[in-house]
Amino acid sequence: MNFKYFYTFLLLICFVALGSSQLLAQKQIQTETENFKVKGFHLDLRIQVMTPKALMEFADELSELGMNTLVLEWEGTYPFEKHATISNKYSYTRAEVKSFISHCENLGIRVIPLQQTLGHVEYILRNPRYSILKEDRKDISQLCPMEISNNKALFTDLFTDLANMHNSDYIHIGGDETYLLGHCEKCKKKVAEEGKSKLFVDHMKMIADIVISLGKKPVMWADIILKYPEAAADLPKETIFVDWNYGWKINHFGDIPNLQKLGFTFWGSPAIRSHPDNWFITDWATHFKNQKEFIPYARKANYEGIIMTSWSTSGVYGFTWDVNYDVVDMVQIRNTYPLSGFNILIQSYTEALESKDAIDPQAFVLKYAKKQFGLKKPDAQKLSEFIFFPKELITNGKPDKSSSIAVMKNDYGKVRDQLILINPKKNKEEFEHYKLMADLRMHYLNFKEVESAYNAVNFVRSQTPELLEALNKILENAKGLDNRFLALNKGFLYDSEIKEQNFLRTQQMHALHDRLAKLK
Ligand SMILES: [Zn+2]
Repeated sequence: MNFKYFYTFLLLICFVALGSSQLLAQKQIQTETENFKVKGFHLDLRIQVMTPKALMEFADELSELGMNTLVLEWEGTYPFEKHATISNKYSYTRAEVKSFISHCENLGIRVIPLQQTLGHVEYILRNPRYSILKEDRKDISQLCPMEISNNKALFTDLFTDLANMHNSDYIHIGGDETYLLGHCEKCKKKVAEEGKSKLFVDHMKMIADIVISLGKKPVMWADIILKYPEAAADLPKETIFVDWNYGWKINHFGDIPNLQKLGFTFWGSPAIRSHPDNWFITDWATHFKNQKEFIPYARKANYEGIIMTSWSTSGVYGFTWDVNYDVVDMVQIRNTYPLSGFNILIQSYTEALESKDAIDPQAFVLKYAKKQFGLKKPDAQKLSEFIFFPKELITNGKPDKSSSIAVMKNDYGKVRDQLILINPKKNKEEFEHYKLMADLRMHYLNFKEVESAYNAVNFVRSQTPELLEALNKILENAKGLDNRFLALNKGFLYDSEIKEQNFLRTQQMHALHDRLAKLK
């Protein structure tokens, strides 16, 4: 072989090698995620704040289930050193946070703090100290992204504290549901000149840069950047987007592959507690279907991690104001049944993560009934009927589907009546949560029936004694339910919070009672 041919041969080899490595890279991109690098759970401590003991036990359970990540949305429970003003009445001590994170470290769980940085910051802005940051004087859910130097100072303090305290390489910077984006005069001007995407991205980039300067990678919810993606390329390449999807179509918020093409990594987030779940209804079927469909999709879409979310509340608050919208107090809208009652969905999540195939919800529930509670097939079937009973809401006093609340009571009553007769062989306390949920729903339907009669066009005062008698029974029944709620959640939540939850759950019933009884 002379030199000329030798060089041609070398060149050919190079082309073939280059070609095959490109093919290999392409193949790797197309290959499904074999095993998610991040297998995690999101803990929402905005309300239903878990005791330190319950937090430790929950971490033990996650570790046994093979999880390696916990995203902690501390919200007002975090004891910031320089911003002690933010901490709420259930906030932990620094010693408690330190000991919890070191417990997780020993279990092989990395704790990612989640700190909201644009929307969902009512708990910060309710304090006069931070008033200057408000996007709107009445709706204080969001801060103004044009308050650049003040924002930078605040979040540098918060993230420095969080970065020092947590053991994960990541920090979650929130960034979802920023409904007021472009609302105030300064923001409107920037939107007119540079667009909504730029307004959002400039703020989130400033935040992401703080996180990166502290040696961590920023993680953020993907909904807003998917909705306004034009300036996405300005965000640091280290940014990880979390596609949260609680059961709707793929690309619900926007075009995910377009952001992946820019080089951004994605994680996915399904949910086991989300809208419209509350004390009286859990949309179990949707949560199971969400795991069945979304986790296999996340594998195909090459997502690097999965973080299961579990929302204690909606993230929207009702306010009591004084003059000039000074906040007297704020109360969460929508309270989900506590996380203590959702072991079945946590277990199925684990199965969905481990299995390459989609889970079969019906089969899973029957299998779980046998394994966890020692139930024979007929009783397992009854548990399944409770879980998969169709979700129905009552809106403006009217059932969404059924012809009347009495019909709803009759249909649900059959499922409830057979559930409460089941006597599990083991894990009795866990089963008591399902019985309580079923009873809370009947309790709610009973109340709704009275409320409906009171709101009927033909309601007259002479009906008052009859309605009052029904309501007195409901409120008597509430005391028993309150005690069961306390017994099942004692040690999981603080006693004072259980008391508050019981109060809020029956607040509307007491209010109608007092109106009917003309308490003066
Ligand atoms: Zn603004």
